[in-house]
Amino acid sequence: MATELPKTGVVIIGLGATGGVAALPLAQAGIDVVGLEAGSWLAPADLSPDELRNNFRAWPQAVQKANREIPTHRPTSSSPYSPRVPLHPMMNAVGGTTLHYWAQSWRLSPWDFTVATETRRRYGASRLPAGTTVEDWPFGLEELEPYYDKVEVEIGVSGQAGNIKGAIDRRGNIFEGPRARGYPMPPLRGTGFTEMMAGAARSLGWHPFPGPAAVTSQRYQGRSPCVYHGFCNRGGCHVSAKGSTAVTTIPKAQGTRRLSVVTESHVTSINVDAAGRASGVTYLKGGTEYVQPANVVLLAGYTYENVRLLLLSTSPAFPKGLSNNHGQVGRHYFSHNQIATVNALFPRNLNTWYGLPAQGVAVDDWADDNFDHGPLDFIGGGNLWVYSDRRPIAAANMSTFGRAPRWGAQWKAFIRENADRGNTAYLQRTTLPYEDNYLDLDPVVKDPLGFPVCRITADYKQNERRLADFIQDKMVQWYRAAGAIATEKTAVGTMGPSTHAYGGTRMGDNPETNVVNRWGFSHEVPNLGVLGASVMGTSGARNPTLTAQALAWRTAEYLAANWKSIVI
Ligand SMILES: Cc1cc2nc3c(=O)[nH]c(=O)nc-3n(C[C@H](O)[C@H](O)[C@H](O)COP(=O)(O)OP(=O)(O)OC[C@H]3O[C@@H](n4cnc5c(N)ncnc54)[C@H](O)[C@@H]3O)c2cc1C
Ligand code: SF4
Repeated sequence: MATELPKTGVVIIGLGATGGVAALPLAQAGIDVVGLEAGSWLAPADLSPDELRNNFRAWPQAVQKANREIPTHRPTSSSPYSPRVPLHPMMNAVGGTTLHYWAQSWRLSPWDFTVATETRRRYGASRLPAGTTVEDWPFGLEELEPYYDKVEVEIGVSGQAGNIKGAIDRRGNIFEGPRARGYPMPPLRGTGFTEMMAGAARSLGWHPFPGPAAVTSQRYQGRSPCVYHGFCNRGGCHVSAKGSTAVTTIPKAQGTRRLSVVTESHVTSINVDAAGRASGVTYLKGGTEYVQPANVVLLAGYTYENVRLLLLSTSPAFPKGLSNNHGQVGRHYFSHNQIATVNALFPRNLNTWYGLPAQGVAVDDWADDNFDHGPLDFIGGGNLWVYSDRRPIAAANMSTFGRAPRWGAQWKAFIRENADRGNTAYLQRTTLPYEDNYLDLDPVVKDPLGFPVCRITADYKQNERRLADFIQDKMVQWYRAAGAIATEKTAVGTMGPSTHAYGGTRMGDNPETNVVNRWGFSHEVPNLGVLGASVMGTSGARNPTLTAQALAWRTAEYLAANWKSIVI
């Protein structure tokens, strides 16, 4: 028999990147919030620079929820399953994956909100790839801009603006949409390597700029500046320079005394009342089952868990899963086309042992619709990113570019000479949703509690593959212009479990094709909100978190402003 707790105003499922942001405007509006988090608070000792533990041994060991429910994958509904990956690097702790993410904090470009309309207008309807379910967002960048701004200030983003109210600043990204003001901090400093790459980009006539990072470039709101020591590629930050919600919005919300953080609490279902409205959640903590009643439920457990929890929460009113009477939960799923990369070998040391992956230089000349696709056979583009970060195990795992075997004395000699001469770019590209790419519950594989895990049925299509090839060629051109003596392109791969997973609870005005409305609330359950990239209908060519956080703030602010009509 579950223990029923006193009712709260809002219960948030998961206090990660998005749940951790939404808590703040709600608490500041005087609304009582209970944040149920599967993980625990991490101590400073958990944040040590240990590549073996952080990158290979599923850090932190305390709570391993994400790793116990890794989604299964098959490329199509008739193909065999892919081998199940052994680890999924999403975090279970207060702060979620912002504890150990790279902290690149990008806004989307204006085109990303209007892909369908702009493609038809510029190239004709036939250029939208066959089978894509892409829709325009229900609003444009200008609607989200104030929320990007709020989040950038709260978590502390360093960067160089390229477009303030239409005035272009060539030190920043000349392709970005208009911003109301600059970043709260100047960009992270460059390195010899990033300066060299920026110079090479300029020699090609391109427009390099330092990327935005949720990392302090100077003392900020009582937090230390970054000390550029590295190891924050899947490692936590021991000086709180990284803007995890665990050191920014969550403690600030707790300071209002309106947010209660309940750790090691695994939500197993979202409950509904006889009228089909969300009534609260059921969760397990220490082997005991609790029911937390609430006026409003906000679901923020990351894309796979958002979809899974909705599908697991069946009731007479929602026999196919909560908010799924239109059959849209799990649809319009896609994960970022970011695997295919380019490796390069230089004839001299690059000194990239120091630094962090958010400390780099970007090129957006080939992103989004920033170039003419008329003669090409795809739409969309990619962000080219090179950065300063190298750790011992990763360095030893570098490509030998066909110049040495992968073992033995010759391999050792190659690594000894070239460990600091290799580089790998990070190339993120537009990815579209398609009719036959979706998430559902696996009919066989279960987590240790006996619940089915999420199943991914998805693969990259022709548009993504052609685009990957094009962007890799641009990256090869860039490396060669910088003096690389060898380059190699890696394969696109397939759409297995991802750290950039989108869709499944898409946002849009039409309830026939979308799960949540323009404010992030369910079309079918008006007091259920969904937070995270699962509501995003397009990916852009850059990481999702800042956009998901801006949307989360907007949903929370809307809830606070419309409390009476949503709660009734
Ligand atoms: C190594 C790595 C590097 C990355 N780098 C970047 C980057 O540079 N820039 C960027 O934009 N993005 C990056 N990402 C992606 C980014 O981390 C995610 O976009 C973001 O964290 C997603 O936010 P979220 O709130 O949906 O999920 P999370 O931040 O993962 O938070 C979800 C929270 O919900 C909790 N939870 C889950 N299920 C339940 C449940 N049933 N009950 C209770 N609690 C639950 C989890 O424990 C977790 O704390 C990176 C990801 C990884 C793994
Ligand atoms: S490099 Fe900077 S952000 Fe990363 S862990 Fe070190 S101090 Fe923190």
